[in-house]
Amino acid sequence: MAEKDFIFGLKGNIVYSKTTEQLEICENGYLVYEGNEIKGVYSELPQEYKDISVEDYGDRLIIPGLADLHIHAPQYTYRGLGMDMELLEWLETNTFPEEAKYKDLEYAKKAYKIFVDNLQKGATTRACIFATVHRKATLHLMDLLEISGLRTMVGKVNMDRNCPDYLREGTQESADETIEWMKDIQHNKYKKTQAILTPRFIPSCTDELMEMLKMVQMRYQMPVQSHLSENFSEIAWVQELCPESEFYGDAYDRFGLFGADSRTVMAHCVHSDERERARMKENGVFIAHCPESNMNLASGVAPVRTFLEEGLHIGLGSDVAGGATENLFTAMAHAIQASKLRWRLQDDSLKPLTAPEAFYMATKGGGEFFGKVGSFEAGYEMDVVVLDDSRLEHPQDMTVQQRLERMIYFSDDREVYAKYVAGEKLF
Ligand SMILES: [Zn+2]
Repeated sequence: MAEKDFIFGLKGNIVYSKTTEQLEICENGYLVYEGNEIKGVYSELPQEYKDISVEDYGDRLIIPGLADLHIHAPQYTYRGLGMDMELLEWLETNTFPEEAKYKDLEYAKKAYKIFVDNLQKGATTRACIFATVHRKATLHLMDLLEISGLRTMVGKVNMDRNCPDYLREGTQESADETIEWMKDIQHNKYKKTQAILTPRFIPSCTDELMEMLKMVQMRYQMPVQSHLSENFSEIAWVQELCPESEFYGDAYDRFGLFGADSRTVMAHCVHSDERERARMKENGVFIAHCPESNMNLASGVAPVRTFLEEGLHIGLGSDVAGGATENLFTAMAHAIQASKLRWRLQDDSLKPLTAPEAFYMATKGGGEFFGKVGSFEAGYEMDVVVLDDSRLEHPQDMTVQQRLERMIYFSDDREVYAKYVAGEKLF
């Protein structure tokens, strides 16, 4: 039958999440898909699929692609440097001088190529990416990502206060450049790369700019990304800058840039109080939990157990270069480790995260920001990573779950054997 020509299968040890509590495991099973749509996972091929062609990955692990809800592309150049500072000092010393270099398109081309090549080799299939204030360099980053096959959302950053003069945009200029950027994007006709509105954070955007950005957001129906409640000094600063706001998240919400009518992801939320969490839930705001960055910049440990219990949308972010690596397996390990420190040192009523919970956040939890992404339930998009864990020798028998757990702690792009994004095989 002709229509079956478009249905394919992958065979291997399949692992994915439906819920936070447990992993779904199908040993030596079949993942059946048609184009960009998962049809199902089966231990034996059903009669209707018995003639489809199957790619046999043997004893390897087959998992959904990972979603990075927060990463800064221009900061990839200095990952692993200056990790002994706190946030505001780190921004002044490391971040702003480096981001200024992206005014030079030749520098941006070199730097962004390294970033995109590395992101493509790893297990990440989806990402929410900050660029810089520079429109041309941001477009170049989007060109490279489009070619990479990854599915990403990319933001030209907006900043019109509290940053060095060499990076500061005028208020009108920032809004105008964002509109020009959106026009360029419509002209470039990207299929895999989407624009996301990116006010850096409240301290770097005036009220006037936030009002203008809301108009841009509505005009182009854009999703939104920013930072929230990362650090105590930052929270106090927002209260000074926006004395009328009830809490940090309310400062975004007053401008209509905190979910509700736009898909929104906020990085960190380390110190989000009850009111802020209630507003995030009401407005459907996603949290990008970035445990490594929160440790490196001494921001604290987010109450992830509370987020999960309260039913908030949560995924993981690498937050390069607050985090040193784009490897989301490392982010899973850090999420578990940080939750244990929080439980031991700060609040023993919030039990630490489990490996299935961390895996859920890196796949289905974050994937939901992009739609039906991050699981192998029927109807989900076809994002798949095949892992070859044979480099990690062991004398004893291991279950598939144990092998996946070791991937969380040990794997890097050397284990990524094959990768499919939205139905397209990248390698
Ligand atoms: Zn960030």
